[in-house]
Amino acid sequence: MTEPVPSAAETLAAWRALTDRLEGASSRAGRSSPARLIAVTKTVPADRIAPLLEAGQVEFGENRVQEAKAKWPELRALAPVCRLHLIGPLQTNKVRDACALFDVIQTLDRPRLGEALRAEIDRAGRAPELLVQVNTGEEPQKAGILPAETDRFLDDMRGRLGLTVAGLMCIPPAAAPPGPHFALLAKMAARNGLPVLSMGMSADFETAIALGATHVRIGSALFGARPAPDPAPPGDEPRPAAPSAG
Ligand SMILES: *Cc1c(COP(=O)(O)O)cnc(C)c1O
Repeated sequence: MTEPVPSAAETLAAWRALTDRLEGASSRAGRSSPARLIAVTKTVPADRIAPLLEAGQVEFGENRVQEAKAKWPELRALAPVCRLHLIGPLQTNKVRDACALFDVIQTLDRPRLGEALRAEIDRAGRAPELLVQVNTGEEPQKAGILPAETDRFLDDMRGRLGLTVAGLMCIPPAAAPPGPHFALLAKMAARNGLPVLSMGMSADFETAIALGATHVRIGSALFGARPAPDPAPPGDEPRPAAPSAG
């Protein structure tokens, strides 16, 4: 059985309700400005995204470069102020496209990707904002730098490569309470002088805001359940297609 797709009116109502909850959680956490809502639009077609853009939603997240490339050039024309975040793993051969499309890349997670980003930033003369993804749950199937290696990785990216890193992001394990993961990420950001914390999704964004999130990434609470569970972990790039015979 597939869930009904919410109408534009339902999506806008969900957006307004989420914005209220987010502002409530932010003021309870003593925040001077509310956490930013990133509307995660992976698998959502452009005609369902446009009403949110037109209503004034600014930040959006996609997890695949190819999908973003197909949808966003047209959508951006509707609202030039929008900010697009890459929240899925980035392959080095897609760095050029990613830097051209995205305002923020949240998934810097290995030295080789840092090197490719450095080269592309130098070539293009413009830099996306960068966040380092931390694998707080140390899950083997999940992208991200291990917590014990994060400080050294940040020093390498900033020192050797001269990259400006704005903050950290994490995706806690699906089965565990997220609070300790958010607290760990906040602690690592603080000791490294990083202002941006991207953490919290539909099910746990209020917890994330209480623990310091500056950006929350919300998909299903806005757009309804996504189709067909992806065999890859959330945010993963599709596996390279097998060479076709003939
Ligand atoms: C899909 C996705 C989200 C949104 O998840 P919801 O539970 O639908 O809100 C957030 N972050 C990342 C990295 C994602 O891939």
